[in-house]
Amino acid sequence: MYKYDVKSLKAEEFINNEEILETLAYAKENKNNLELIQTILEKARPVKKDKGYVCNGLSHKEASVLLACDIPEINEEINKIAEEIKLAFYGNRIVMFAPLYLSNYCINGCVYCPYHAKNKTIARKKLTQEEVKEQVIALQDMGHKRLAIEAGEDPFNNPIEYILDSIKTIYSVNHKNGAIRRVNVNIAATTVENYKKLADAGIGTYILFQETYNKKSYEELHPTGPKHDYCYHTEAMDRAMEGGIDDVGLGVLFGLEGYKYEFAGLLMHAEHLEAVHGVGPHTISVPRIKKADDIDPNAFDNSISDDIFAKITACIRLAVPYTGMIVSTRESEKVRGRLLNLGISQISGASRTSVGGYEKEERVHDSEQFEVSDTRTLDEVVGWLMDNGHIPSFCTACYREGRTGDRFMALCKTGQILNCCHPNALMTLTEFLVDYASEETRKKGFEMIERELNKIPNEKRREIAINNINDIKASNRR
Ligand code: SAM
Repeated sequence: MYKYDVKSLKAEEFINNEEILETLAYAKENKNNLELIQTILEKARPVKKDKGYVCNGLSHKEASVLLACDIPEINEEINKIAEEIKLAFYGNRIVMFAPLYLSNYCINGCVYCPYHAKNKTIARKKLTQEEVKEQVIALQDMGHKRLAIEAGEDPFNNPIEYILDSIKTIYSVNHKNGAIRRVNVNIAATTVENYKKLADAGIGTYILFQETYNKKSYEELHPTGPKHDYCYHTEAMDRAMEGGIDDVGLGVLFGLEGYKYEFAGLLMHAEHLEAVHGVGPHTISVPRIKKADDIDPNAFDNSISDDIFAKITACIRLAVPYTGMIVSTRESEKVRGRLLNLGISQISGASRTSVGGYEKEERVHDSEQFEVSDTRTLDEVVGWLMDNGHIPSFCTACYREGRTGDRFMALCKTGQILNCCHPNALMTLTEFLVDYASEETRKKGFEMIERELNKIPNEKRREIAINNINDIKASNRR
């Protein structure tokens, strides 16, 4: 089907400008081709098989046709299928996490990021290991179990040893009933050797946003520093997998380049990983550019409306049905609420993008990476999710039991999610309610758990979950 041999090409060669432009032309030509569109929608629909569902996913070309189509009834159908896929593979669970910014020292020149080396107004900060510990305690006190660590690129101030020390510190803090059980890592592209060190340190997902797949724009947007090297950046996930990291997370920063271009590039990257490594991306994030110290998002021409943003999310859901999807607090409560019904499976809560600051009541702005739109507490976000029929999940069991990469995908594909992830979500939600929640959230949560326990199909598994939940409730751990 492809004129390119996906397997033998490097990521940077496969995700090429010519193929993306051809894809966009094909999508434009067919955006009203109802016969083709119906075939694509049929292909995307989840099909019941044995105890679960299977999905075919879509190629970047097929998904680009759906993205280009502006027929309202078709868009409604896309949204409906996106929700069906989310429910089929991820149920009504939403996994919770928080970012932890370790250091904003950076030697790159990214023109959209306030960390850029020439910025003299941002307060430069790097957490000491003692401060990392303080931040982790503050995050544990909210109820978080899963973090994504973030840092600028600076081999002098934030060498790999600093990142590794911080991971060790995070995993070692066991305060009250808390313990961070999964540390995902979002640091600059690095060497196979360093990825091996991260894998040995027991990280969860390695996340790296491509920012843009348009090579020419990429080079202009990253004029100086190591990040300028498009090939090195684009091939980072291959090196990460070579270094033994099973779960990688993709993303582009929407607003920098044309969204249709980025969409095709992102899906081609997923196709590349699946073809070469036998497993696609574990997650895809959908960040949009935000206001930040010395950065005005209006300076970039490609901002997208909330409607287009929602459409992109739904079309990604159809194209890569087994991949988790993440939306951060860059987005408002309203936008996040809308996206949750279109395929998002993970959200951050109570995030601070400053280096440190979780221990403070007031938000610290001087070292922030960008302004967050959703400033609610974790307890408020958890309560809101439940009001809208979503189960907030603090589960990290897959990771702890070595179900990463293709082993996680196998769980997803065999329909064991309701027997496995659903009880785990309910048990970890119980822990949250017992240990950290307000009275109001706790009441709401226990009522939801009662209803949701009935959905566990396997009787034995349901019984185990009920017993565990009763034990946690009785433990009076506060
Ligand atoms: N230094 C690492 C790298 O080079 O990938 C980690 C980067 S940073 C801590 C995480 C992400 O924040 C970046 O990849 C970028 O997409 C995003 N980001 C940067 N500036 C932003 C802005 N003004 N608004 C929203 N997101 C931004």
